[in-house]
Amino acid sequence: MEKIYFVSGIDTGVGKSFATGAMARFLRERGVAVTTLKLVQTGNEGFSEDIALHRTIMGVEPTVEDRELITAPQIFKFPSSPHLAAELESRKFEPSAVDAALETLLKKYSPVLVEGAGGLAVPLSGEELTIDFAAARSWPLILVSSGRLGSLNHTILSIEAAAARNMRVAGVVYNYCDEADPVIDRDTPRMIIRALERHGYPPALVRLDKIVPGGKVTSDFSAIFGMDGTRESFRKKMVMSDYKLHRNLERDRKVLWHPYASATNPPPVFFASGAAGTRIRISEGKTLIDGVSSWWCMCHGHNHPHIVEMIRRQAESLTQVMFAGFTHEPAIRLAEQMNRRTPPGLKKLFFVDSGSVAVECALKLAIEYQQAAGFPARRRFATVRGGYHGDTFAAMSVSDPGGMHRMFSGMTAENFFAPRPECRFGDEWDPEDFAAMERLLDEHARETAAVIIEPIFQGANGMRFYHPQYLRELRRACTERGILLILDEVATGFGRLGRFFAAEYAEVVADIVCIGKGLTGGALPLAAVISSEAVAERVSDGDPGILMHGPTFMANPLACAAGCASLELFDEYDWRLRVREIESALRSGLGALRTEDNVADVRVLGAVGVLELRRMPTPERVHAAALESGVWLRPFGSWLYTMPPFITPPEEIGRIIDAMAALARVDK
Ligand code: PLP
Repeated sequence: MEKIYFVSGIDTGVGKSFATGAMARFLRERGVAVTTLKLVQTGNEGFSEDIALHRTIMGVEPTVEDRELITAPQIFKFPSSPHLAAELESRKFEPSAVDAALETLLKKYSPVLVEGAGGLAVPLSGEELTIDFAAARSWPLILVSSGRLGSLNHTILSIEAAAARNMRVAGVVYNYCDEADPVIDRDTPRMIIRALERHGYPPALVRLDKIVPGGKVTSDFSAIFGMDGTRESFRKKMVMSDYKLHRNLERDRKVLWHPYASATNPPPVFFASGAAGTRIRISEGKTLIDGVSSWWCMCHGHNHPHIVEMIRRQAESLTQVMFAGFTHEPAIRLAEQMNRRTPPGLKKLFFVDSGSVAVECALKLAIEYQQAAGFPARRRFATVRGGYHGDTFAAMSVSDPGGMHRMFSGMTAENFFAPRPECRFGDEWDPEDFAAMERLLDEHARETAAVIIEPIFQGANGMRFYHPQYLRELRRACTERGILLILDEVATGFGRLGRFFAAEYAEVVADIVCIGKGLTGGALPLAAVISSEAVAERVSDGDPGILMHGPTFMANPLACAAGCASLELFDEYDWRLRVREIESALRSGLGALRTEDNVADVRVLGAVGVLELRRMPTPERVHAAALESGVWLRPFGSWLYTMPPFITPPEEIGRIIDAMAALARVDK
């Protein structure tokens, strides 16, 4: 039970004082040292008739505190809203008088039921409404409603106003009223309970039975005060915000299916109620540092004001238009801005809505190119083991066959796989590392349309960095055989490894590049295929001379506006320096964990830090650890990794490293 409850009507004259008195009597009869206080009394002089009514219903004499006017610290003569009543006496409502009275009462009583004046929106002074006064003090709210016409509207509005201020609603007292229409009287309580549940409040609605002053109180208010067994233990465990959270997660489980998860036995999830910068808010007052940039895309942090503002402005003029038959400013501008960042020759940009679809589209483009070039048999792809290019079928067909999609083996197109590059980034180049790929291309040159590879960093199926020379060899080998080179920069583009594109480490220019994730700074879904002029011209000169692809939401104006804003940000701060600083912190912090029993390998490049573990923590352990450490990490396979937003300050990088260290040490 709380120390203070705020009892408000949903309107004036709904029986607030009766309800307050009845609740106080109910508690008193159960041995609880309860008392009541009137927030502000109007229409009286020198005494409070509401407090007097409470005492009559409670069946007690006025207390010492009543006589000393502690339980009614502010009384005004004129029967009106407190702000007006006070003004007519050239006085003011004094919040400190209420706080002082409560301080005195709480020495002897608990709880104190504070009865308001009228409804929640009643002004206490020129500036402050009753609800704001109560919300600022975090008082749980008990609403008194009734069965009269119009009450439902007022009750639901009151519940919504409380929810909007993050107030706890302990329950609703429903004042049964004689003149209520029986049909309305049946419906109203049901609808009130629904409104409570909708906002994650306990469905605590108690009917106030008719009260004869001095007679018995028969209503059972235990649900409101958490005195029934289940709610009591429930309340002990959770504060209200957690209760709301719990309700939201229950709703989630009924209707949603999360990625890479069971629908019936899903792993735990957090409820994200907002995000800013490096933090995701998971409940009132609780945030998690986003250690994985929300699946590697949030380069400048969450809800960056510039990106949000550009999306907002764009929303005022054009949110979506089909890209067949139309074009628009954000798409043109974003393509122009990308053009300035890609090597000359990589010119034509085709927007899609996700990285996987960018890969699909790039593969189709390669087939179309080879057809147009007179090599229709070239319809397959070569790649390396340990790669990942997305979850759609063609993307799976070029991802590691033994990796996360192995359950679909045999159902995807057959492509050619060379062993993964073994020579690490930073090690001395071993020419042998490329030999197997060279042989593979020799063997299948006549069937191979393109090689697709993630440049420098194999992500979701490997979390490894390889030698840039591998890419140079690949470029040479492809050119020699008329095979296209597709670089999948979906994960590595936009600065993640310390260069704007990872291919810059090898100074290699692809024929086709896939981008996604960081393209909008992570704010909205957008991806693209960038094609060389040569490929674009060849396909367009061929038969039928068109790129056979066209997603409904391609080049969505809001996403393009976000993309423009994000690229502007890359010019505004020294992101390279930030990535270098993150890299050196990760090198020393994660490097120190090499000696841990459970750590098989440590790899760092740019703003990516990976611990390869021998034993992985369970999803439940990861979830609990996030709450303990305040850091969000999502280990998978045998990798515990971080890819923080570039704006993450050193202190938070330190916390990420500590959280990784704690998880790496976990035994099971
Ligand atoms: N390509 C690479 C290299 C990726 O890392 C990913 C996603 O992680 C994709 C493609 C697929 O992108 P999306 O999840 O947007 O479909």
